[in-house]
Amino acid sequence: MDEVKKMVSTSELDPGFKSDVLAHPDARGLNACFSCGACSAGCPIHEVFPDYSPKKLAKMVRLGMKKEVLNSPYIWYCATCCNCVEHCPQNVKFFDILNVLKNMAAKGGYAPAAWVEQTKHVMETGIVFAQEDSWVKKREVLSLRPLKEYVDKMRKIVEKTGIDKIKPRVNSK
Ligand code: SF4
Ligand code: SF4
Repeated sequence: MDEVKKMVSTSELDPGFKSDVLAHPDARGLNACFSCGACSAGCPIHEVFPDYSPKKLAKMVRLGMKKEVLNSPYIWYCATCCNCVEHCPQNVKFFDILNVLKNMAAKGGYAPAAWVEQTKHVMETGIVFAQEDSWVKKREVLSLRPLKEYVDKMRKIVEKTGIDKIKPRVNSK
């Protein structure tokens, strides 16, 4: 069965959202977007998840769909390949705009719980993913320092960025 799309009323739009995004130097190219779709055509995430579309997100920002953009789980799906930037005839740099949107979403309380958990893990262990015993042994064989030595340094970096203060959104995936 086809998914029923939720209609957005014009009264729900935030006319200041586009200006808020454009206030970030990394997002200044947004105004040059003419919705050609070349970014989406080259996006590997769009190929697998058709609902994720750089072109659509750029348009939603221009329309003031703040809640829909910042609460979208898709903005966290980006594979950071930068194909959207390579393909854009207008030099829009959608990847940079997406990072601005993710920062706004995190600050606004829309960060996915998994992302917040991963940050906690970095604070506690100094690495993003749980270590497997085989890695630890391999590091010993290669005379590499134990990763634990970097916990304090990683914690300091995380605290400097402020991402340890980010709260997960309710019901996030
Ligand atoms: S390729 Fe560039 S101009 Fe075309 S829709 Fe994407 S961001 Fe806009
Ligand atoms: S950087 Fe992200 S949005 Fe851009 S093409 Fe790659 S996956 Fe898609």
